Amino acid sequence: MSLSLTNGALNEVFETLSRHYRIMAPVRIVGGGRFSDTDNIQYGEVSTAEEIVWEEKSHFSPKEVIAPITQTLFQFHEGQLITSSVDRRKILLFMRPCDIHGLRQLDNMFLKNGDNEDFYYKRLREKVKVAMFECKTGWDSCFCVSMNTHETSDYDIACRFSESGADIHFQCNELREAFAEHGTESNFKPEFIKENQFTLKLPESTGLSAQEIRDRTIGHPLFDEYDRRCVECGRCTTSCGTCSCYSVNDVHYTENANFGERQRIWSSCIIPGFSDMAGGHSYRQRSGERLRYRLLHKMVDHKERFGDHMCVGCGRCDDRCPQYISFSNMVSKVTTALEETQHAE
Ligand code: SF4
Ligand code: SF4
Repeated sequence: MSLSLTNGALNEVFETLSRHYRIMAPVRIVGGGRFSDTDNIQYGEVSTAEEIVWEEKSHFSPKEVIAPITQTLFQFHEGQLITSSVDRRKILLFMRPCDIHGLRQLDNMFLKNGDNEDFYYKRLREKVKVAMFECKTGWDSCFCVSMNTHETSDYDIACRFSESGADIHFQCNELREAFAEHGTESNFKPEFIKENQFTLKLPESTGLSAQEIRDRTIGHPLFDEYDRRCVECGRCTTSCGTCSCYSVNDVHYTENANFGERQRIWSSCIIPGFSDMAGGHSYRQRSGERLRYRLLHKMVDHKERFGDHMCVGCGRCDDRCPQYISFSNMVSKVTTALEETQHAE
């Protein structure tokens, strides 16, 4: 079933829904961008349809809604541990198709990666209803079609926004009932992008196994240029919807170390020291080595374990890098280098 709603009607629904839902969508932070007079587009709670930025790519992904940048895990008061509280409301999360695929990769990392489910991720994830919004043209850094993440049916509602309102397709009875009296029936079905501005040739196209790809890229000189170019800022990983690593810190409320809280904070394999081991041993000391590690995790290792790529082709890492390092270019270079090793055999 599908409905057409005006912005006024959507806002009435949002007002009612907000008693039980946090409605989370890309919003514009005016003046919050990386240069003066530039905006930032990131996820925030909305109360009206007009606040949703649907016509531009968000700079940050929806992951910060269910895996927040800083998250208090528990408080400690002498010998007592108190689990942090969480907003009781469910979450209606507006996402593009690629980011919905990214949510599946986050589920893999937090819920299926070993024997333990991550309690703090799960308690937010279980609240999420997915509101997909169409993405029919993409942007110049997108390669979702190459990653097969441009389409999805994994949503509760699907939307096509316009200046005056939205068409919505429902796959969730609860949400359909919430919207039903506010719209008129339509025959809307969501559409998806068919082609990006470029096609990415993936390392797997060489037919080499994951282990062969790892063996043939370790120490490869193509990564040397990144030792000089990468400034290890981590912007590629903070903007990525599927990077899920964090550091854990204790924050003490007073000089008494027995009172405080334990937090986790986004971090990543790109940051020097993140992977250091006891005794100060570090496997990847150069940024080129760290970028190779990230690339293989996104394009090879995750697929070996979970069956599909971690990277969903959103292109945000390319958009955000201050050094204009292109992840998709790096993937192309790796594929070409692997082909060269095959030709030399
Ligand atoms: S394109 Fe970059 S930011 Fe987007 S999912 Fe892939 S690695 Fe992450
Ligand atoms: S955003 Fe660019 S410079 Fe910063 S860590 Fe990532 S690749 Fe390096």
